[in-house]
Amino acid sequence: MTQIAFIGLGHMGLPMARNLLKAGYPLKVFDLVRSAVDTLAGEGAIAAVSASAAVDQAQVVISMLPASRHVESLYLGRDGLLEQLPAGSLVVECSTIAPESARKVHAAARERGIELLDAPVSGGTAGAAAGTLTFMVGGAAEALEKARPLLAVMGQNIFHAGPEGAGQVAKVCNNQVLAVQMIATAEAMAMGVANGLDPAVLAEIMRQSSGGNWTLEKYNPWPGVMENAPASKGYSGGFMAELMAKDLGLAQETASHHGNSAPMGALALQLYRLLLKQGKGKQDFSVVQQLFVE
Ligand code: NAD
Repeated sequence: MTQIAFIGLGHMGLPMARNLLKAGYPLKVFDLVRSAVDTLAGEGAIAAVSASAAVDQAQVVISMLPASRHVESLYLGRDGLLEQLPAGSLVVECSTIAPESARKVHAAARERGIELLDAPVSGGTAGAAAGTLTFMVGGAAEALEKARPLLAVMGQNIFHAGPEGAGQVAKVCNNQVLAVQMIATAEAMAMGVANGLDPAVLAEIMRQSSGGNWTLEKYNPWPGVMENAPASKGYSGGFMAELMAKDLGLAQETASHHGNSAPMGALALQLYRLLLKQGKGKQDFSVVQQLFVE
């Protein structure tokens, strides 16, 4: 069976790797945080002491890191993994990073005869745990066909967005919509509750009406409305506000490349920066609710 190296076992990477393990794939894992590696080692993965050790003998490398700089430092340069991997290897890079950065890593991989896909995901930590993520893939169609059985273990919808970097472009478009919806939902929840409505009743009315959206379906930002949402767990777990701010920054950069205007995304970015200034960057992005309550 395909030997896989999985690098980056955070909120998303750990449950994604776990699903591959459960499906019977031999997995070598590495993260800078030792406890995450130990958790998966306890479930049957082989613990590696470095990224380089993890990819030794691997046919496929999957990575799930925070941002562009982590991905570039992992793969590029003299000590980067692309120097170490043999030609013919397949890299599935799932982090959300700048499309430009993804294209840079693609170009370096191509030079070494390594197949690479930018394959960012949507669906949150719940989707990662349930194996129902959406993959937005950029790169060669043939490489995607090779990766498809693995992606199908971790996800439900697999889209070929287009050539190198296209997965990242799709992802920043999607996350900009998500941020704007989350902020609009938080604003409305605060307004309704301040005017005497029960938050659960308001949430259900909007969910079933024309204001319905993903955050009302799966991720209500008002504490206690949804038992399993991060809002009901002190805004812990989930998708960190600082990562959302990063994605909104990427969306602004992506828009400016072609002179596009993205004012809703710009406002969302400013609101998330406020949260970061308040020290809430490590909390789930639904913590934006707190900007609207006293
Ligand atoms: P996270 O911070 O929880 O996890 C990232 C992990 O990468 C950490 O455990 C960190 O120690 C590890 N890491 C960093 N540099 C490393 C290196 N050089 N070698 C090995 N490990 C390294 O972040 P996350 O929430 O899992 O998100 C990962 C990516 O997925 C981000 O790009 C994010 O934007 C994207 N994403 C997150 C969500 C979500 O709901 N959390 C949803 C969709 C996409």
